[in-house]
Order: sequence, then C-alpha cells, then structure tokens
Amino acid sequence: MDFELSEDQLLIKEMISEFAQNEIKPRVKELEKKRAFPSELLKKLAELGVLGMSIPPEYQGNKTDSLSLILAIEQLSKVFPSLAVIISVHCSLFCYAILKFGSEAQKKIYLPKAAAGEILGAFALTEPWAGSDVRGIKTRAVKKGDRFILDGTKSWVTTGSDATAYILFATTETDSGNHQLSAFIVEKSFPGFRISKVEEKMGLHASITSEIVLENCQVPAENLLGKEGKGASIALHCLDGSRIGIAAQSVGLSQRALEEATTYAKQREAFDKPIAEFQAIQFMIADMATLTEAAQLLTHRAAILLDKGISVSKEASMAKLFASEAANKIAYMALQIHGGYGYSQEFFIEQLYRDARVLTIYEGTSEIQRLVISRHLIKE
Ligand SMILES: Cc1cc2nc3c(=O)[nH]c(=O)nc-3n(C[C@H](O)[C@H](O)[C@H](O)COP(=O)(O)OP(=O)(O)OC[C@H]3O[C@@H](n4cnc5c(N)ncnc54)[C@H](O)[C@@H]3O)c2cc1C
Repeated sequence: MDFELSEDQLLIKEMISEFAQNEIKPRVKELEKKRAFPSELLKKLAELGVLGMSIPPEYQGNKTDSLSLILAIEQLSKVFPSLAVIISVHCSLFCYAILKFGSEAQKKIYLPKAAAGEILGAFALTEPWAGSDVRGIKTRAVKKGDRFILDGTKSWVTTGSDATAYILFATTETDSGNHQLSAFIVEKSFPGFRISKVEEKMGLHASITSEIVLENCQVPAENLLGKEGKGASIALHCLDGSRIGIAAQSVGLSQRALEEATTYAKQREAFDKPIAEFQAIQFMIADMATLTEAAQLLTHRAAILLDKGISVSKEASMAKLFASEAANKIAYMALQIHGGYGYSQEFFIEQLYRDARVLTIYEGTSEIQRLVISRHLIKE
C-alpha cells in the first residue's frame, strides 16, 4: 500500500493547516470557555470547501478522496478537537448517508445546501436507554397518509442544537407486527421536534451535544432514507466510514499533545538541566511518537481501502480502537511531562486531556470495536 501523499492531498493538508493556525487557533480558548458553537469558523470552512468534501460536483460539492478528508480532520483536531468532530459528523455521517442511501430528490434538496454550509448535519441514533445496543431504540415512526409520525427521545446528538437536519433512526412496524429500524431525514423545523437538553460535558465544550424530543413529529413520507426497515444496516455502514474520522481526530489530538510535551520538555528545567535530558522523559516522548505514527498508519490504511469500495468494517474499527486508546495514553504522558502546570487551564494539554477521553466512547466504544474486529476474524 502506498502511503505517499499525492500533490492534491499535500495541498489540502497544507491549506487546512494554514487556516487552522491563522484563523482557528486564536479563537479556541474563548470558544471552549464560553461553550460557544464555532458558527463563524464553519462558515469560513464552507467557503474553503471543507463542508462539501464528501459531496460530488453534481450536487455542488467538491468531493475529494477519503484520505484527503481524513487529513483535513487531523489538521483541525490538532488545533480544535471540538471543530474536528463537528466536521466529521457532517461529512462522514450526514452527507455520506444521503449520498449513499438517499433518493435523487433527497440528494438535490440536501447536498448542495450541506456543501454550502446552509445546512449543518447531525446523526441521531443513540437514546438514553440504547447506546451500544441499538436494538433497545424506542423511538417509533408510524405512517399516516403522506407522513410518518415520530415519537421518542434521541440523546447525545453531536451538533444537536446547531444542526439544521438530522439522519434520525426510529422503528417502524412490519406487516407481521415486528419492529425494525428505519432511517429518516428530519429537519429541525418539522412540527413536533424540540431540543430538550444540552449536555454539560467534561470536554469538547464547543461541540454542543444535545437531547432531542420528538412529540407527534411530522416527517414527510419522502424523507424516509433508504428502504423502510433497513435503518440498522444504514447506520452500521455509515459508522464504518465515520469511525475513520474519529481515528483521524485522535491522531490530530495525539500529534498536538506530542508537540506540546516536547516543546515544554525542552524549556522546563529541573536539577540544573532541561527535563528533556532525563531518560524518563525521553522514553515517554519516544512512546508518544511511536503510538501516534502507528495510529496514523492504521487510519490512513483504512481511508485508502474505503476508496477501493471494499468493506472496511474491520479496518475502520482497528483504526478507531488503536488511535483513540493511543490518544488517551499520549494525552496522559504529555500532561505528566508538564508536571503541575499540565493541570492548569493555562496550558493547552489540560484541554487535550479532557477532549481525548470521549474518543474511546463515541461512535462505538472500544469494547464494541473489539467485538466488530473479533467477529470478522472468527468469520474469516
Ligand atoms: C460527547 C458525545 C457525543 C456523542 N455524539 C453522538 C451522536 O452524534 N450521535 C449518536 O447517535 N450518538 C452519539 N453519542 C453516543 C455514543 O455513541 C454512545 O455513548 C456510545 O455508543 C456508547 O453507548 P452508551 O453511552 O449508551 O453506553 P452503553 O452501551 O450503556 O455501554 C456502557 C459500557 O458497557 C460496555 N458494553 C456495552 N455492550 C457491551 C458488550 N456487548 N460487550 C462488552 N462491553 C459492552 C460499553 O463498552 C461501555 O463500557 C455521543 C456520546 C458522547 C459522549
């Protein structure tokens, strides 16, 4: 497998890196502190074409290969992990789901606006009683005439309050009386839709995570995404790709933690020399760098395979499992190298340490990734 970046990929990486350093970095502290959604930055990212990176030109996007999107997420996460997850959900879950499973009419309605940033997308699968086990989903969709009536609660929705449209999962009843998962495109403006709670989280403060209540929510029948009853396979298929995005978020965060720790170790002195001269510190730096590069290789491999059109379920889970666990180890070591200062909000590593924690939880916990990987291996 060729891990050399093409000229186009290098160009995208450099463009996002420059934008992140110049336009995003100066705003991060304030936005995180105020727990403010980065709307202005998203507008600028839409102008740069980032929101349309998974949308083909016929729907006014500027579709790139998967590795380019992954490189963009890495660069964003290096500077602002909250923004990286917003982009990852919009591109790899919302836009991808419509592109892959949507009707021509749905693509024409939603994708051009999503590329322009006029629509920000979210993905609402989880419920208070159903996370890893989606069989516990209780939201019901009942067909009445030309619409579905949805009732239920969706929880932990990234961009929940600030999105305009959602890929939302509810159960529909089959002729034999069984309930099967179906996917819908639900707009925030539909009657019966409301945001019921904003989560107060440990980290990723500028990525607003919300609970949604659907009470007699009226969804036009043409907003069913894919076939009725096929929601579970739609969700799993979309998550395969987007888990690579979370792996990329982990890689970017790890790269930044390594940079912060190395810079600090060269400046901070103890026992008459920079702490970088102590072998204990050097070994942590070596371990952080090795973990980061291994995580990046798994992540890039999964992205390259995704573009070959083969199933990447196992490879995406491996990348997400390794990169997210590595990011937590790296954030721990990087904070340790900072000593007491690492525990202060003055240093960026304090935020990275908190932001890293969720990486092993959302879009499938590490335990669920291990189940996916082992099931593939046993089947093979
Ligand atoms: C900040 C944040 C953002 C999120 N964004 C979204 C979003 O945009 N959209 C969305 O739909 N969801 C979102 N989620 C939800 C997230 O995907 C779930 O939290 C996650 O899937 C785990 O589900 P749970 O929290 O219900 O944990 P549970 O499923 O209750 O799991 C609890 C523990 O049991 C373990 N466990 C469960 N089943 C097994 C098993 N079979 N074998 C071994 N261990 C098991 C888990 O690994 C975990 O350690 C978000 C969550 C957070 C925290």
